[in-house]
Amino acid sequence: MTPKQAFKAMPKQIVVGAYIYTLKPVQIAGGDAGNLAHVDTEAQTIEIKSSLASPAAIIGCALHEVMHIIWGASGLAKRADEESAILAFDAGLTLLFQKNPAFLVWIQKCLK
Ligand SMILES: [Zn+2]
Repeated sequence: MTPKQAFKAMPKQIVVGAYIYTLKPVQIAGGDAGNLAHVDTEAQTIEIKSSLASPAAIIGCALHEVMHIIWGASGLAKRADEESAILAFDAGLTLLFQKNPAFLVWIQKCLK
């Protein structure tokens, strides 16, 4: 799958906790050209940079921003290591799902 196909297949909206977030490919995420992605919890949008080079990077960024939402909604305090923790988990989960597609299918079936 190409990055363009990944963006085309990306859901327009996802539910995270009690809220619906809109997923958008954008040229500049969060107004900062250095960001790969950005979440705006007030506007309930997740922006992902459209120039990302691989579907795995797109998935990793989407998971990353979802984890920021969950982190904030779960009452975890803002901490200096939030970004480091989430970076570790986005990469780890992306690789886990990439290398074990049957595991992800099994999760989906069990949670229906
Ligand atoms: Zn982050």
